Amino acid sequence: MRKQRFVSVNLQKWTRRRRFHISRHIFWVVLVLLMAGNFTYADAQTRPNVKLVLQVTIDGLRADLLNRYGDGFGKDGFRFLMKKGIVYTNAHYQHANTETIVGHTTLATGAFPSQHGMIGNVWFDREAGELAYNIEDPDSPIIQTRENVSKGEQVDPAQKKSRTQGRSPAVILAPTFGDGLAAYYGGRSKIFGVSGKDRSAVSMAGHVGKAFWYSTNTGDFVTSTYYYDAYPDWVSKWNAQRKAERYAGKSWSLLNDAPAYLLGTQDDRPYEADLRGYGRVFPHPFGQANDTLFYTRILVSPIGDQLTLDFSKALIKHEQLGQDEIPDYLSISFSSVDAVNHFFGPSSLENEDVVVQLDRTLADLFAFIDKTVGLKHTLVVFAADHGMADMPEYMTELGYKAGRLDPDEIVAAANQAGRKFGVDEIVRFFYRPYLYLNDEKIAAEKIDRMKVEHFIADALTDLEGISLAVASSRLSAQQTNPLQEQVRNNYHVSRSGDIYIIQEPYWFLFDKGPVAAMHGSPWRYDTHVPIVFMGPGIQPKTVHRRVHPVDVAPTIAALLGMTPPGSAQGMPLEEVLNRKMK
Ligand SMILES: [Zn+2]
Repeated sequence: MRKQRFVSVNLQKWTRRRRFHISRHIFWVVLVLLMAGNFTYADAQTRPNVKLVLQVTIDGLRADLLNRYGDGFGKDGFRFLMKKGIVYTNAHYQHANTETIVGHTTLATGAFPSQHGMIGNVWFDREAGELAYNIEDPDSPIIQTRENVSKGEQVDPAQKKSRTQGRSPAVILAPTFGDGLAAYYGGRSKIFGVSGKDRSAVSMAGHVGKAFWYSTNTGDFVTSTYYYDAYPDWVSKWNAQRKAERYAGKSWSLLNDAPAYLLGTQDDRPYEADLRGYGRVFPHPFGQANDTLFYTRILVSPIGDQLTLDFSKALIKHEQLGQDEIPDYLSISFSSVDAVNHFFGPSSLENEDVVVQLDRTLADLFAFIDKTVGLKHTLVVFAADHGMADMPEYMTELGYKAGRLDPDEIVAAANQAGRKFGVDEIVRFFYRPYLYLNDEKIAAEKIDRMKVEHFIADALTDLEGISLAVASSRLSAQQTNPLQEQVRNNYHVSRSGDIYIIQEPYWFLFDKGPVAAMHGSPWRYDTHVPIVFMGPGIQPKTVHRRVHPVDVAPTIAALLGMTPPGSAQGMPLEEVLNRKMK
């Protein structure tokens, strides 16, 4: 008994003491939780500081070009961005088909093409039995800006495949960062995409935002009925000024004297393309405004980027972006570096000059943003949609083995392999990089589809200039070749073809047509892009670890305290999130 009592007294004492300890612990736990909440979920400083998310994408800016042409930069463009921002030097796309719509949609959604569905600028529509241009939408025609527009000649090989003039994000299967921003703020954020190209404006504006892009028919910035019933007044006024037309009879001239350039001697090269009178050497004459290539030539020069900026400034002003506490979103995708790459190649004097002039355009953009919104309230997100390959002829000249593959020969080789199974003309369609087989013929002959696919893929892999042909049916199996992961990330069940063809490095999967150079391979020169974040509280830093463009949208979302876009696969970049608290 006594013993028991003794125990119970002690127990009482112990619990009393313990209760005191527990309540003290709870106090600290609650305090820490409150503080943690302060620095993550309820950070009052995050939202008011970012009034504008400005996503700047440079079409075709391979990451190394920023080093290569650095001597020609002023202090307020690229240098300012790299001095003030977190610079990722080792960012690579993880999909195989490194094309414009694929890269832009990946940046916008944080998803792989397998989820967002933009597997290429062009794919074969099996149901319709013809090629489909990525953002084509017959139900959303472009709103005309002028009467009796004389149609410009189309030299963009992807645009050429479009069947109608309608454009919308309807076929993009994943939500973008902008879509999420609209949802988060109850539709109060203003969301816009502007670009020299339709696909780069539409993909970044997402499903909720509004898009404007440069027309190579008129030099106007246009939109479609998906976004508007009629042009806002300020757009009509901007277009009425006919700013592109002011360059009629003028030329693209070098910003500096040729010897000032690293590639000063790389001007006249026989394998560069001539846009009928635009020439291979400086100065490049734009021709007269009634020339059907006039507005295309403008885009294939630094003027294309300057007009894109000029239109964006008008948009920022008239739509009053970044003027209140609800963050707005503006994507500007500059298209002229890519356009110049396609005609002159990424190792041309033209390429160096267009990047150096873009540096001045960026300086102009940053100064304008600082004046209107304030850079201290702007999160600048900078990247590129893909890199660029040097031309096979240039690489051959340097001593590297490379060439161009004739698409007809690829089809012939595949058909020949198909005959082993008793099927004539087994290829239904080929458009790089996908080969589509004829389902009806394969079904009629009752042959093992997998066997045929693998046999043809192996036959194509044997061709000179082809590194690997991957049968889609092989993608799910355990594989050892890292290229197959990129092909898998690119695979969408209804849009992708049956066999993905990968060329050897520096080989092109197309014949020389109006354009001379082409990106789109899974090789590093096509996957390597710059990624930079600059904005309030972001501590300048250079980061060399491997990161990916799918990380970009989740990073912006995390920085604003939002959940990532629905299909995003990337991870928020820690260096950006660890910003300085005031
Ligand atoms: Zn592009």
